[in-house]
Amino acid sequence: MSTLEIKDLYAHVETKEGIKPILKGVNLTVNSDETHAIMGPNGSGKSTLAYTLAGHPKYVVDGGEVLLDGQDILKMTPDERAKAGLFLAMQYPVEVPGVSMTNFLRTAKTEIDGKAPSIRTWARELSEAMKRLKMDPKFATRSVNEGFSGGEKKRAEVLQLELLKPKFAILDETDSGLDVDALRIVSEGVNRAKEANKFGILMVTHYTRILKYIKPDIVHVFADGHFVKTGGPELADELEENGYDQYLPEGADSE
Ligand code: ADP
Ligand code: MG
Ligand code: MG
Repeated sequence: MSTLEIKDLYAHVETKEGIKPILKGVNLTVNSDETHAIMGPNGSGKSTLAYTLAGHPKYVVDGGEVLLDGQDILKMTPDERAKAGLFLAMQYPVEVPGVSMTNFLRTAKTEIDGKAPSIRTWARELSEAMKRLKMDPKFATRSVNEGFSGGEKKRAEVLQLELLKPKFAILDETDSGLDVDALRIVSEGVNRAKEANKFGILMVTHYTRILKYIKPDIVHVFADGHFVKTGGPELADELEENGYDQYLPEGADSE
């Protein structure tokens, strides 16, 4: 069992107008057999939390710690964090022209495991995982995310999740831009990966529909840079019903 602990985390971003504090005292503990849903209004800092955990250089940590099995990951490079078992599926995945999916995945796998996977096992694992995700085999030779549709990018991320086998996965709006069929395929992929290889999930979402497929154990409301409420799955239903207005500062709107 692994544990990810976020303790009193503060972070800002540098904008043209100056320093913008975004994370304002984030506290969270996730065990590697739990699924946590992080829900909240747009602009509250959910993606910033995901990027800060992954070590994106734009987000500057001002205080707090993030411990993965007791080790402070904030002191690690993004590569080292991935090696330690952290996986981030971004809300807006980047395109990597000139690097094929196959090479990218194999390099990432080699980096994370500290040794290259055996070619035959790897080729089989890759093609089976792609088949399950209903991805055309020709995606293997295409450049990472280049010209992929929204749904194809999300599938490519779940493919990474299945193959890289992290300890903790942060899924930032994996549901956005997916039609019902794609949402089901992607969700089944996440559930299958979790079944095959237990890991903790931090699932960032603005809407409740993905929670019908990937069942959270714990639901949090994130507003204005920190968690303001925690509950069980029923909290998601309550949010679906009442929206986020009650968690917003006076006069603000949730969209
Ligand atoms: P969420 O994912 O909850 O919608 P974000 O983390 O994307 O929220 O953004 C939180 C706030 O920080 C927003 O006001 C957003 O405009 C701002 N922000 C986030 N990243 C940057 C950035 N790189 N440069 C400038 N502002 C940013
Ligand atoms: Mg947003
Ligand atoms: Mg976001």
